[in-house]
Amino acid sequence: MSLALRDVSRTFNGTTAVKNVNLEVKPGEIIGLLGTSGCGKSTLLRAISGLDSEYDGEIEINGTVSKEIHDTTGFIFQEPRLLPWLNVLDNVTFGLTGSRKEKENKAIDYLESVGLRGKERLYPRELSGGMAQRVAIARALVTSPEILLLDEPFSALDAFTKMQLQDLLLEVWKKYQSTIVLVTHDIDEANYLCDRVVILRGQPGEVDREFIISQKRP
Ligand code: ADP
Ligand code: ADP
Repeated sequence: MSLALRDVSRTFNGTTAVKNVNLEVKPGEIIGLLGTSGCGKSTLLRAISGLDSEYDGEIEINGTVSKEIHDTTGFIFQEPRLLPWLNVLDNVTFGLTGSRKEKENKAIDYLESVGLRGKERLYPRELSGGMAQRVAIARALVTSPEILLLDEPFSALDAFTKMQLQDLLLEVWKKYQSTIVLVTHDIDEANYLCDRVVILRGQPGEVDREFIISQKRP
């Protein structure tokens, strides 16, 4: 799905967090969003997802401008944010509709694709950081989002797990051709994963520079 931001600004109690951001993202593009802390990256992702509707300007998803929560978007945060009282399977089925069997079969498929087959009955406290983040990825993917919003999804992980999950993200992207907006502080990660990188200049965040990454993704 395509995504367009037109003159998007966000003010909190008179303080401007994001100012006049314009951005066009093509269907299936992986775009990196970089910039110093506090320049408004998370604020932009929340606006795109519809979790925040108090912004000015327009956000168009696949030709439709709306400030409703977009169920076509999936969110992955820095921390997994799993529900501690639910096991892995129920964390992934939570929010799905359909019969219990349908939901579970679907969740199991996605758990398999993130390498967690057999871990369905574990609880979040029994998982390593990397496993928990895989669950968060499965939970975001299971709703078949056409736009994936990732807010520093790998920055809390060790280097090895980080590389595994970056490759997993690329596999997922190849399979589902999702449009991805990735907030990261890691230039190497942006270089490895993204087609294009946008630098926000803080504060408030405005688009400063955009550049195309020429290196072809594997
Ligand atoms: P980034 O993700 O780039 O680190 P954020 O989007 O989290 O930046 O924040 C951008 C600016 O907006 C910061 O100055 C932050 O303090 C402010 N901000 C974000 N959310 C809120 C909020 N709910 N209330 C007040 N200020 C906020
Ligand atoms: P992230 O880890 O996604 O960058 P943050 O830590 O920036 O998230 O923000 C977490 C929550 O705190 C968000 O709901 C954001 O709106 C809110 N928040 C961020 N900065 C401020 C602030 N200065 N005042 C009030 N709320 C804030």
